[in-house]
Amino acid sequence: MRDWAKKTILASGALRFAGNLHGPSAAILMYHSVLPDPSQQADSLGGIVHSEAAFRAQMELLARDYHPISLDQTVKHLRDGDDFPKRSVIVTFDDGYTDNYEVALPILNQFAVPATFYVTVDCVENKRLPWPSRLRCAFRRTKQTSWTDAKIDAKIESNAQSWNLSSPLNREEAFLAACDACCQLSGTAQEEFVRRIEQELQTSLPAESGSLMMSYDQLRELAGHGHIVGSHTMTHPNMAQLKADDAQREFAESKQRLESRLGAPIKHFSYPCPALEPHWSERTVEQSLALGYETAVTTNSGLTHRGDELLCLKRLHPTKTLEGLRWNLESAFAGRTV
Ligand SMILES: [Zn+2]
Repeated sequence: MRDWAKKTILASGALRFAGNLHGPSAAILMYHSVLPDPSQQADSLGGIVHSEAAFRAQMELLARDYHPISLDQTVKHLRDGDDFPKRSVIVTFDDGYTDNYEVALPILNQFAVPATFYVTVDCVENKRLPWPSRLRCAFRRTKQTSWTDAKIDAKIESNAQSWNLSSPLNREEAFLAACDACCQLSGTAQEEFVRRIEQELQTSLPAESGSLMMSYDQLRELAGHGHIVGSHTMTHPNMAQLKADDAQREFAESKQRLESRLGAPIKHFSYPCPALEPHWSERTVEQSLALGYETAVTTNSGLTHRGDELLCLKRLHPTKTLEGLRWNLESAFAGRTV
């Protein structure tokens, strides 16, 4: 739908009226990174960055026209069966970027919007970006003109494929193929895979990119301001594509590490969705439940309603603009698919 048409519909109040007819629901919004100038990190973070100006405008909108609540309040409503406050919104961040602390936190605090920050623990501890950013950077910056992914799966020789890297489009396709393979790996195997590709493409991330990840001190400060810290795994794999014990290790170790370093229970989890579907499964839901997680969010799109399974909650894409966020929220609350 065209922008002018969306504006006309929003201005008419028709979606808001329709939203009043629907039962109570909440929108969990998924953010990653907020920077004064998103183009600064385009080669590594790609399209997951909000501009600081857009993020500020979006938080102001949430504080004025919606009802921001914390994830813990959401659990209480879902468990106790209380109705959500009308037009509830929950702000979440994935990955654990330093800008969450430096740029987003003052804005969240200014508008009294509580947030949950899901952290990739290995990336915080070793000061390195999650692997999708490392691979994206390698494929965008390499001077090589071709790349063969023969070693992605040495057991299946027929999988070998050569990629011409002469155009940005080809590079993106090669990057996505590498992501499909890498998302099935975790821990050391994943690190070896990424390093091998960086070697083959003769690139590596600039050393200062490590400062893009938050420190434990910064995480403690987030919690000190009343925000919630949750787990986004150890090494950012696709949990549904891992073997059961590898997934178990990612759930358990990230929880234990965060709990011992932050001195508080970690109750909330966010599923990475770097490539391939599904990114969660019945098995992963059972594993997270057994380990004591209370909620888990996915990247499946939709609202949260009373009666929903807490360990595979849907989220909503906030878009990069103020009007885009308004449109997605009003459409979702009015019962439309976003
Ligand atoms: Zn992530």
